[in-house]
Amino acid sequence: MAVKVCKFGGTSMADGNVINGVKKIIEGDRERKYVVVSAPGKRYSGDTKVTDLLYACQDELEAFGTCKKSFAAVRARFISIVKELNLDFDIESILIETERRIESEKSRDFTASRGEYLSAQVVARVLGAKFIDAENVIFFGESGALDGEKSYKAIVEAVKDCDLAVFPGFYGRGVDGRVKTFSRGGSDISGAIVARAVNASLYENWTDVSGFLACDPRIVDSPKRIKRISYKELRELSYMGANVLHSESIFPVRKANIPIVIKNTFRPEDEGTEILPSSRYTPSGNIVTGIAGKKNFTVIFIEKSLMNSEVGFIAKVLEEVAREGVSIEHIPSGIDTMSLVIASENLGDQKLSRILEGIRNAVEPDIIRVIENIALVATVGHGMSSSVGTSARLFNAIAAANINIKMIDQGSSELNIVVGVKNEDYERCIKAIYAEFFGKNQN
Ligand code: ASP
Repeated sequence: MAVKVCKFGGTSMADGNVINGVKKIIEGDRERKYVVVSAPGKRYSGDTKVTDLLYACQDELEAFGTCKKSFAAVRARFISIVKELNLDFDIESILIETERRIESEKSRDFTASRGEYLSAQVVARVLGAKFIDAENVIFFGESGALDGEKSYKAIVEAVKDCDLAVFPGFYGRGVDGRVKTFSRGGSDISGAIVARAVNASLYENWTDVSGFLACDPRIVDSPKRIKRISYKELRELSYMGANVLHSESIFPVRKANIPIVIKNTFRPEDEGTEILPSSRYTPSGNIVTGIAGKKNFTVIFIEKSLMNSEVGFIAKVLEEVAREGVSIEHIPSGIDTMSLVIASENLGDQKLSRILEGIRNAVEPDIIRVIENIALVATVGHGMSSSVGTSARLFNAIAAANINIKMIDQGSSELNIVVGVKNEDYERCIKAIYAEFFGKNQN
């Protein structure tokens, strides 16, 4: 039988009512056998996520040697969840033991992980499922990265003969034998690891939105939902700032060609967004899949006649940047020109002036110029390479909005076109592109 792995985010764990909805979702499909949960999230705007309450516990512990005060809020959250669920479950004893362990372990990661630990305990009880502690099945290696092989084996072993299991997300065990967390939002990664281990037919990621939107809804009013997106497109969009899945979470499932679907716990009937490996991806007919961007980049523009024939020119320039430990986002180039696009926040501490000085000495350019306060806007879509005139439409739309393009970069994958515009034109640029490709009668 095909199996599905379902990861439920913080808002899906927020209170007893929502957890009852989760139960219905799981029970509605027998293929949903493995569940990964986050710590309870916000119930209303202004509420505090349990993980943040736990970080406060750790701060209190470090300052005063006890986390009593802050832990009271964690305790109250879980007690009310169990009450709302009408569950016959001795959460009180687990909470006492958890507080004791937080105080004895004295580890930030351990403390933060307890939100997931406790919510998985509750959900396992609600579903009558086996609780599998991530500490015993997700392992990190020497470098701090996931030890995939060891983890996949342990997960397969743990779910043997078990019909329904719940795993806490967000953490595993480090090489020192202690609990270690992923970065924030890391339960998405845990879900992907479990999906990979059990070779799931689908990784369902349940959130509080009905999938991804074609662009930032704070910039464009009610943008269209993306029905289908490839891993590659998603990577481009999330790298460029679209607030979607934890960007690392794609890798374990991508390697195994397991599709992901983003679903809404509060509207389970909505279709959501499917994320597919290229081998299974058929474009939905849209030329552009999504638009995303980021502000605050610095462009170093370099010009030198006959640059192209000077062997090693680019290497020398890049070496000067690497020497400062700075990474480069884009390198658009022409015959006698090249530009380096760098996130401005990485150029502090005089790094910019040292890089400029280094480049001047290394390659003696005719012109070297710095343009600051640049925003990058990426327009992403598999359909773009196969349809004639897409870039013309894109640039015309930006020109019609009276926006000056400072830089253009079309990645070699032909999956995206990145334009650099002034920070102040960022929102207008996204609006113009959206209107061109998603406006009425478009696409
Ligand atoms: N609870 C953790 C966080 O708030 C991990 C997660 O929700 O995925 O970052």
